[in-house]
Amino acid sequence: MQSDFSQNRIEILQKIATTAKEAGRNPDDITLVAVSKTQTPEKLDEALLDGQKIFGENRVQEAYSHWGERDCSDLELRLIGPLQTNKSDEAVKLFDVIETLDREHLCASLQKSIQKIGKSPKILMQINIGNEEQKAGVAINEFPRLLDLAREHYRLEVTGLMCIPPAELPPAPYFALLQKLAKTHDLKTLSMGMSSDFETAIKFGATHVRVGTALFGARDYQSNL
Ligand SMILES: *Cc1c(COP(=O)(O)O)cnc(C)c1O
Repeated sequence: MQSDFSQNRIEILQKIATTAKEAGRNPDDITLVAVSKTQTPEKLDEALLDGQKIFGENRVQEAYSHWGERDCSDLELRLIGPLQTNKSDEAVKLFDVIETLDREHLCASLQKSIQKIGKSPKILMQINIGNEEQKAGVAINEFPRLLDLAREHYRLEVTGLMCIPPAELPPAPYFALLQKLAKTHDLKTLSMGMSSDFETAIKFGATHVRVGTALFGARDYQSNL
């Protein structure tokens, strides 16, 4: 019998393919990121056995407990939660992609870590797309300046944008806005869409959808987004 993960993954990949085709896009241009925060080692084993290679984690510490002892040479690990500057060495060491650059202070500390560790993760900038007070991400009106600084002054390889639209509101306008911002600034990677809205995100150009519960089932405890 197939595991839940395996069955869920088949269904999600099918939805990705169908939605991509409806939107006139190539399904191969959309990557399923399995959000493994809060999952048990057994669940991770199941995902790996099923051939899943790309994972998203919210917290540096938890990511180390999930992946630190495993052979990750074949995997892609993506940090999708807020990053504190005092964890930037550890983040640069472990992650292939850091999706949550959102302030100048972090540009500086990532630059230092990259030089020190001799490894350059790809970097996405997180946009506070709904201009929400409590939400991480750079404000839309401050984003162009931060992008310039990151690229020109701190020499960071910024390849795309990431967002989490406001909860409880239809996400489409926010995805459309992120797509527009990326296009204006010639950024190719768009990380947007989660379990409940990844199909909508694909219609607006998502290249990476971050799916947790729809793949693994409900999380054991609430993670604070
Ligand atoms: C937890 C999380 C997800 C996945 O959420 P689901 O609703 O479980 O798919 C995606 N992106 C971020 C940034 C998250 O923290």
